Amino acid sequence: MTAAKTYIDQAFETVKTRNPHETEFLQAVQELFDTLEPVFEKHPEYIEENILERIVEPERVISFRVPWTDKDGKVQVNRGYRVQFNSAVGPYKGGLRFHPTVNQSILKFLGFEQIYKNVLTGLPIGGGKGGSDFDPKGKTDREVMSFVQSFMTELQKHIGPSLDVPAGDIGVGGREIGYMFGQYKRLNQFDAGVLTGKPLAFGGSLIRPEATGYGLVYFTDEMLKANGKSFKDQTVLVSGSGNVAQFAVQKATELGAKVISVSDSNGYIIDETGIDFDLLVDVKEKRRARLTEYAAEKASAKYFEGSVWNYDGPADIALPCATQNEIDGDKAKQLLANGVYAVAEGANMPSDLAAITAYRENGVLYGPAKAANAGGVAVSALEMSQNSQRLSWSTEEVDARLKDIMTNIFATAKETAETYDLGIDYLAGANIAAFEKVADAMISQGIV
Ligand code: NDP
Repeated sequence: MTAAKTYIDQAFETVKTRNPHETEFLQAVQELFDTLEPVFEKHPEYIEENILERIVEPERVISFRVPWTDKDGKVQVNRGYRVQFNSAVGPYKGGLRFHPTVNQSILKFLGFEQIYKNVLTGLPIGGGKGGSDFDPKGKTDREVMSFVQSFMTELQKHIGPSLDVPAGDIGVGGREIGYMFGQYKRLNQFDAGVLTGKPLAFGGSLIRPEATGYGLVYFTDEMLKANGKSFKDQTVLVSGSGNVAQFAVQKATELGAKVISVSDSNGYIIDETGIDFDLLVDVKEKRRARLTEYAAEKASAKYFEGSVWNYDGPADIALPCATQNEIDGDKAKQLLANGVYAVAEGANMPSDLAAITAYRENGVLYGPAKAANAGGVAVSALEMSQNSQRLSWSTEEVDARLKDIMTNIFATAKETAETYDLGIDYLAGANIAAFEKVADAMISQGIV
């Protein structure tokens, strides 16, 4: 065994010992570590610096009580968190997730991934993540506001334009960001740079709602083109039906693909004539309804219970855009058997380690989340730039910058994979390129 491999294995054992119950976090760490051996062979100084043990430890984890009052006047209590993982290249940046499954392990995995994703954008932002086990589903606007005001009353002590700039994620969209901004402003002052994903009226950026979905499709398009393919006439499976999924559907359709599925946590739609973007947005955003309503209104759409990855029909490209670990090894193998040759991740860590192994062993064109879904945080960073300039850029300008950033991310992953003689292993390419940048920044700041 090489010294590099021995060091990586020992470091991983330490992470396991220190975080025995944090399964999602350990999975994200393992996914990164599994690709780093060539880097440590080339850079033994990283071993000297014990960089792995440093990089897996968040700079700070804040957890707090969030008491609020529901519509019946009952007092409810949720848990709030902010994981400030790494500020080597800039202020902590990453979304807030409101979902009943949220816990420290999930936020540490998301914060850990965010470090590398952010550095891949080439913009000066560090990595963080936060959220709560609060479930906005089925709550009234007033209940959401009551919760959010309590959440922000504590969170505002820990954030700021040069310190930590949260944004949205699952369960946190324009409505929640608006309420958070209002409460921040009451307790401090108007400061547009403290949150991103804001509505346009008070400092939001054009294209921010579209950015993750569009960016995913721009990245995938680059990956397809580099391998002599394109979206034209391809059958695409999308999971999820939220922010990322909606705009992935729209952009992939615009590029000539036929997107036949979307899903939610209860079931999925198969629409052989192609998902209708306008109807999808109407059902999900305007009515805040379930996908069964979409199926009831579109004759060609069929609704099935369960995971969309159980769909057993022909497809070319898969874009998972719902949540972590939605594709396991068996589902990945079934996708490949059904003809899927490219998988690009809109969601964070949607493929488990067995699924990733199946992609890599079978030569699937695989765009890992930290590269493929970086468009959202990239436009968030552009929102920060506009806020500090007190300017608002046009749709065309932001979209062009987004496209440029996604093209560069793909080029970085591809070139790094080639430099290390790893063929089309874009996962390794993205991991290595991002890791080297963060490690170098940390080391040049001393033992911090
Ligand atoms: P939304 O809340 O807008 O939508 C989430 C979608 O995923 C919904 O359709 C939801 O269904 C579904 N979903 C959530 N949890 C589960 C589950 N356990 N099983 C099955 N389906 C589920 O979130 P986003 O679109 O913003 O986020 C989706 C993914 O993209 C997440 O992994 C997020 O971290 C990632 N991401 C988001 C970015 C952004 O800018 N928003 C940026 C980068 C990554 P239901 O309505 O039934 O809950």
